[in-house]
Amino acid sequence: MEEGRPEAGQAVVSGLGPNGVAAALELLKRGYRVTVVEKRSKYTRPIHLHLRSTYLQDIRRLSEELFQRLMAIATPIEENSRTGSQACDPVPNYLQDRRATPREGEPCPVWSRLSTPPERHVRLDNAERLFYEFLQEKAAEHDSKLTIRRGPVLQLQPTPHGYYRVLLQGESEDLGVPALVVIAEGGKSVTVRDLGLESVRFSYPKYFMSAHVTVPFGPRTRRIDTDVRELVDDPGVTPAEVSLWASGHGDSNEGTWVVLEVPEALLHQHPDQAEEYFLKGALLLMGAPVGAAAKELRAKIKETLHKGALLSRKRGANLPGMEAASKKTFAGTFKFEQQCLRFPAAGKNVVVLGDAAGMGHHALSSGLEMGAYDLVALGVLCEELQRASEPKECIARYAEAVRNSRLRLLGLGMNEYYPDSAAGRLRMLHRAAELFGEGES
Ligand SMILES: Cc1cc2nc3c(=O)[nH]c(=O)nc-3n(C[C@H](O)[C@H](O)[C@H](O)COP(=O)(O)OP(=O)(O)OC[C@H]3O[C@@H](n4cnc5c(N)ncnc54)[C@H](O)[C@@H]3O)c2cc1C
Repeated sequence: MEEGRPEAGQAVVSGLGPNGVAAALELLKRGYRVTVVEKRSKYTRPIHLHLRSTYLQDIRRLSEELFQRLMAIATPIEENSRTGSQACDPVPNYLQDRRATPREGEPCPVWSRLSTPPERHVRLDNAERLFYEFLQEKAAEHDSKLTIRRGPVLQLQPTPHGYYRVLLQGESEDLGVPALVVIAEGGKSVTVRDLGLESVRFSYPKYFMSAHVTVPFGPRTRRIDTDVRELVDDPGVTPAEVSLWASGHGDSNEGTWVVLEVPEALLHQHPDQAEEYFLKGALLLMGAPVGAAAKELRAKIKETLHKGALLSRKRGANLPGMEAASKKTFAGTFKFEQQCLRFPAAGKNVVVLGDAAGMGHHALSSGLEMGAYDLVALGVLCEELQRASEPKECIARYAEAVRNSRLRLLGLGMNEYYPDSAAGRLRMLHRAAELFGEGES
């Protein structure tokens, strides 16, 4: 083989989180010899993973067995409930083949319309261990086809032909020039940074307040959509529908993430008001116990807030009104934010997917959803490459497939802010197309 040319049939995946595993399985299924590289020696992230239908469908498509194992450790998310008389029926899903007509009348809440609703949740590290074991079993079954390397970090070196060579740092090993390198290193991917791929960040005008409280709310994720008047006494605050989330970890000692939407009108609130808002929201999520129990709970939540349970004080630093709030220990408030790679590919053989290509909404991440879309695009890329088309064209088609999926996601988001206006939606899509450099809405 000519020096610097890719070795057909060889693929490398860097990062063995939920999206990397899915990518590795996709590549194996398509007949590649796959090497996966994961820098961590063990899985230790006791955070929640919301499993969306898109991701679950992808896992099932890849392996019924893995899907069943995942379902066995995942807990269903409680039925969404809404205070008041309006029932919130199944959230419409405008995506791809599951495209549905938007509901008439009162819209469903913001969060649910931004992405596919999560169906189940699981502790991330438990899911990762399960994925890892599954891959190891696959390695044993097809031992010449799958190699798992834990510990080393991958380094990419450009070749004269526009491909990238893979070296393993720490082991000084040269893996050659694979036909395909998939970077699935999560939102803080050093490789993506080193490649100089350009990302764009855009924010929706939505604000959330979140904290981890040591009070366990129970094993399930709960969500309530309510009218803000239930949470504030100030008669000047415009009524608005807000979403409240709680994610218990299942283990009663681990406490709960509480995420509350904050209407813009409340951003200038005094820290004490903010605290009151948080407390009321948390109690509502817990089913608002009454009497002495509520008092005790309130005191407990307040106590943990004052100890400094804070998710993202930094992120809210330059939001109006939040400076004051951030002096208090609890008010981690952040804007609804998304980040996408403008160029999801580098060279002729490197692509990026999952959170590495687009970080979701922080604690309300849609990373896995994006991962699912990216995986469909990865399938397109593999087919193209295996058809022996020109790599440059394959990558262009891959980028197009990614862009289309992202535009769809973005379109959903903006629809929320210009609910009844076709023009608004169009504006948004144009903006998205602009962000991605080219392409049409
Ligand atoms: C604090 C926090 C809270 C979150 N809360 C939620 C939540 O409540 N619900 C939800 O659905 N999602 C949540 N998320 C998001 C969710 O964790 C991600 O969407 C998901 O893990 C993305 O999967 P991924 O495979 O793309 O990346 P990751 O899960 O980040 O996996 C990347 C993998 O790559 C490895 N890696 C990184 N760099 C290298 C390298 N150079 N070489 C080799 N390996 C490397 C990492 O060790 C890691 O194993 C949260 C994330 C964070 C950080």
